[in-house]
This record gives sequence, C-alpha cells and structure tokens, in this order.
Amino acid sequence: MSVPITASMLYDLVSCPHRVTMDLFADPAQRDEPNPFVSLLWEKGSDYEREVIDGLKTPYTDLSMYAGDEKEQQTLRAIQRGEPLIYGGRMQVEGLLGDPDLLRKEGDGYVAGDIKSGAGEEGPQDLSKPKKHYAVQLGLYTDILERKDLSAGKRGFIWDIDGQEVVYDFTELYGKRNPRTLWEDYQDCLAEAQAIVSKSTETLAAYSGVCKLCHWYSACISRLTDANDLTLIPELGRTKRDMMIKRVATIQDLAGADPAGFVAGKKTIFPGIGPATLEKLHARAKLIAAGEKAKPYLREPVTLPVADLELYFDIEVDPMRDICYLHGFVERSKGDTDAERFVAFFAEEPSPEAEKQAFAEAWRYMQESQPCVIYYYSKYERTIYRKLREKFPDVCTEDELEALFDPALAVDLYFDVVLKATEWPTRDFSIKTLASYLGFAWRDRHPSGAASIEWFHRWVETGDATIRQRILDYNEDDCRATRVLRDALDGLAVMPEGIG
Ligand code: SF4
Repeated sequence: MSVPITASMLYDLVSCPHRVTMDLFADPAQRDEPNPFVSLLWEKGSDYEREVIDGLKTPYTDLSMYAGDEKEQQTLRAIQRGEPLIYGGRMQVEGLLGDPDLLRKEGDGYVAGDIKSGAGEEGPQDLSKPKKHYAVQLGLYTDILERKDLSAGKRGFIWDIDGQEVVYDFTELYGKRNPRTLWEDYQDCLAEAQAIVSKSTETLAAYSGVCKLCHWYSACISRLTDANDLTLIPELGRTKRDMMIKRVATIQDLAGADPAGFVAGKKTIFPGIGPATLEKLHARAKLIAAGEKAKPYLREPVTLPVADLELYFDIEVDPMRDICYLHGFVERSKGDTDAERFVAFFAEEPSPEAEKQAFAEAWRYMQESQPCVIYYYSKYERTIYRKLREKFPDVCTEDELEALFDPALAVDLYFDVVLKATEWPTRDFSIKTLASYLGFAWRDRHPSGAASIEWFHRWVETGDATIRQRILDYNEDDCRATRVLRDALDGLAVMPEGIG
C-alpha cells in the first residue's frame, strides 16, 4: 500500500522537495540529532495549541485522545452527528490523510482549520499575504472534505498567535499580475508529493538557508560536496540549478565554461537568469573551483567611513515571544584592537518593560558614543530598531532613529559591502561562514541565532546564570566576527574582472 500524502509532507515540500524524499526513503541512521531550536518550535506550537483549546468559550468535541483508525472513525461519527466544532480529528480518502486541528460546521458542510503559534500571514502589514506552508496544509484538508462531499466551500482558516482568525480563500487570485489561486499552489504541491511517493520523480538536494535546521543536513552536505553541486555557489539555488543542470552540471563545469556561449541577445538560454547574473555566478564558480589557491576579492573599490570610535553591533530576538532581548556592541578605538571591549544590554525578563529598558539603554549608549561608525550585518538590526521605536515611541523619534542608521556613519556590511562589492570562495555569505573562513572561531561549539533563541527560552525557564553568559558570549563573538570581516576588507585586492 502506498504511503498517504499528509499535511506535514506538503508543509516540508514547500521548503524542500528533497526533504520529503529523504524522510520517506533515506537510511534513518544518516539523520542528524534533532535540532534543539526545531524541538523548541514544536514544543511551543503544541503548548500554544493547548492554551487556545483550554481557553475556548464555545463547546467543542475533543478527539485529541484518539489515534489512528479510531480517531478517523470518531471524526466521521462526530461529523455525522453534525458537531459544530471538532478538535483533533482525522480524515482519509484516496491516498490523502489529514489531521486538521479543527473542523467547523458551516451551513451543511465543514471547513478545516489549524492553530499556529506564528502570524497567520506573512509580509508587511498592508501587503500581507497567505503563507504557502499553511495554505498547502489547509488545501489538503479541504480536498479531503470535498472528495468526501463534506465541504462547506473552498476555504480554510488559521487561528494565529495574535488570536486572529485568518481565512484562506482558495478561489481568490493572488492579483492581476499573478492570476493564480492558492488552490493551484496546493494542487502543484500535491502532484509533486504524489510523484515523489510513487518514485516517478527524483529530487535532488539543494543547499539553502533551511538546510541548517534540517535533520538531513550532514547527509545532504556530504552528497552536495561530492557532486560538486551548483547550489554550493552563493545565490545559486534550486530553481537556477534545475534550469542549468542539463547544460552545466557542476561547479567545475560552470567554472570552465564561457558564459558568452549561453547568451542569446539580451537573455541567456537559462530562463530567469540574465547575462549579468550568469557572469557573476561564473566568477563565483571560478573562485570556488580554484580551491586552496582562491582568495576573496573586491569587485569594485570600497570606502568605509572613518571615526575614532567603531561599534560592532548585533541584536538577538526571540520571534516566539516577539521580544528583542539583547543588544550587544564590541567597541573599538580606531586601529587599536587591544582597546576593544564588549558592552551589552540584556532584557532581564521576557516582559515589555525589560525589553524597553534594554532598548532605551542601548539607545542612550549609542548616542553617548557619537561620533562613531556603527557596523552591523544585514538589515535586520535596522528593521528591529524601527519596530522597537514604534513599540516604545518615547525612547527616540523616527528622525533620530533614521539619522542613527544614516549610511554615512552606519554600515550594513552584508548588503552594502559584501553583496555589492565582494566575492568569497565560500558556499554562502553568512557572517559565520565568512568570519570562519577568515580564521575566527566562536567560543561556543554550536553557535547560531536559532540556538541563542533556544538558550534564551531555557534561561527564562531556569534562570541559570551559565545559560545567560552563553548567550552573551555568543553575541559578543558575533560582534567580533563582524569586526574581523571589516578588517579583512582592507586587505582585499580589487579585481573587477574576477580571477583569470
Ligand atoms: S538538508 Fe537541505 S537539501 Fe537536504 S533535505 Fe534538508 S532542506 Fe533539503
């Protein structure tokens, strides 16, 4: 009997189709240990679901204590009785298996919903749109209801972390420019999952940001490295790789090719990849293929601002509690690494008051440090500071905040320098990758932003001072890594044509 398609399978498929293949067919011995941050997300998700259900004011039929076939039978019976709200049910039909958190009676039929410990939609408030991960899960439940002739309509709902109900209408078009519906997205995902299950399609691993939290990370990285896979080139992801693979299968192939040979008029023969992008990817392939002889370089000269004092700045945020809990700075007097010191402002409890105090103190510190140059890595710091200012408007004005992040004296090393003007023989441009390449070592054996969030949760639960210190050390090392990168930029050669 073939494996049924489940909602969690579709959820994973949206991030990485190969994850579905690996979960179904790979040797379990190759799995990495569960990532503590992913475990925390699961834990928080089920805690939140329990909290929502316990707080329900309306009556509901609880089927969460059942499992397997019995759960399915109980669900059918509850539907036949016309129960208004069913929690923890299960439905199965024609190779589809769904465990919706909720089934709600609307008119003569049912609609399905899930309880999520995240926002119901994504993107900026006025441009928010459905999350595809959530949509494909709701699509599966709706499909099952339709096939069983129990559906009240092509829609589902999410009860999100803010207590809002977000309706996912599967018939609505994305927009005039994109006349697709969520239902089409769901159907494409379903077809791909069915092809993977029946082995009528083969998926390939592709290196991306999600790999770092995946339990197949070690297995996939080893396979990608052996295959000299194109996705180990920064900004060359699954879509581009799949476009190119028939003509250019490996990094070595791309390094040895003449990109002009793939250009036809203003385009290349690879849909979605323009000539300039292909040139850039070719240069990266050459650099990586050069192996140990490869050296990072500047594509164009870079001029960084000068001041007697430099602040290397990094924040830590817990997205589950929606709190910025640490503002860290490595402060350096010009050209004198011995004069470095670490300054940190920590929210001593997960409350808005403590978050505000840490923000206000960090803000005051930055003001008192003027004139100085502030270095940070990615737009995240500025984005979070804008959010903090809106949340705590008496700390600073909007104009003051924008003045602080004026690019003349505040440099986003990632977007404004690394991405714009440099090349590195590495598989990505994260600060961990680049500083490690430059010889910097974090004191922690498992440093990552996700790990820091997990430590913060454990510190909140236990108050353990060693965990608090681990968070501070990790943040300090991130700030120092930014300084190591900034210093390395001074020594890079300018090579507009790339390596020969
Ligand atoms: S490690 Fe990456 S490529 Fe491999 S299954 Fe996980 S997400 Fe997919």
